[in-house]
Amino acid sequence: MTLDTKWVEAWIGAAAASIGEHKAELNTLDREIGDGDHGENMDRGVRAALEALGKLPDDATPNAALRSVAMTLISTVGGASGPLYGTAFLKAAEPVGDQAAIDGETLVALLTAARDGIVSRGRAESGDKTMIDAWTPAVDAAAAAQAAGGPPTAILAAAADAAEKGAEATEPLVARKGRASYLGERSTGHRDPGAQSTALILRAASEAAA
Ligand code: ADP
Ligand code: MG
Ligand code: MG
Repeated sequence: MTLDTKWVEAWIGAAAASIGEHKAELNTLDREIGDGDHGENMDRGVRAALEALGKLPDDATPNAALRSVAMTLISTVGGASGPLYGTAFLKAAEPVGDQAAIDGETLVALLTAARDGIVSRGRAESGDKTMIDAWTPAVDAAAAAQAAGGPPTAILAAAADAAEKGAEATEPLVARKGRASYLGERSTGHRDPGAQSTALILRAASEAAA
């Protein structure tokens, strides 16, 4: 599929389905090292984002679609993750500019801008056991796939694979940001819920492009 406004809609549709399916699992991960609401927060947010996309005019640009997702996530997800994911989508829209279809280079720029937006908002570093530990390997893998001449589908598949591995790799880490950091050493042995939802969202982006 061309990475156009329809792709953004298909992405958020696939994300809403996947997060809905994994809502209890995300809540459980967050119950272990947080307050147990991450699945609930994300499910509410992506469903609202999908609904808002459905109300955009037919000629809406990918930029407008990404910005709509950002605004809806900011106003509906809440908690720590709402502003972080909202900023991610807001920043992701910037490199897209007025393009009707997103090429491979822009796709890498989009993912990079999303990650950088989360870092500038939340100040987490790699290894702090946050969603950044899924985003950064995803951005690196996307850039490598693009440098190797891969098409957007390969770039997105590489990003999703790396995000899943990154989420899994948060398990032994000690949390240094967010609610989980209150547990200190006791946060070890659990997967970060935001890293897991990032993996689901990036897998949805890849599936939507296939
Ligand atoms: P809350 O902790 O307010 O209940 P959520 O449960 O929705 O919010 O989101 C928790 C997730 O947010 C964590 O698993 C982590 O991935 C992410 N997070 C929290 N603080 C930060 C931060 N400063 N930078 C990046 N991600 C963060
Ligand atoms: Mg929570
Ligand atoms: Mg909360």
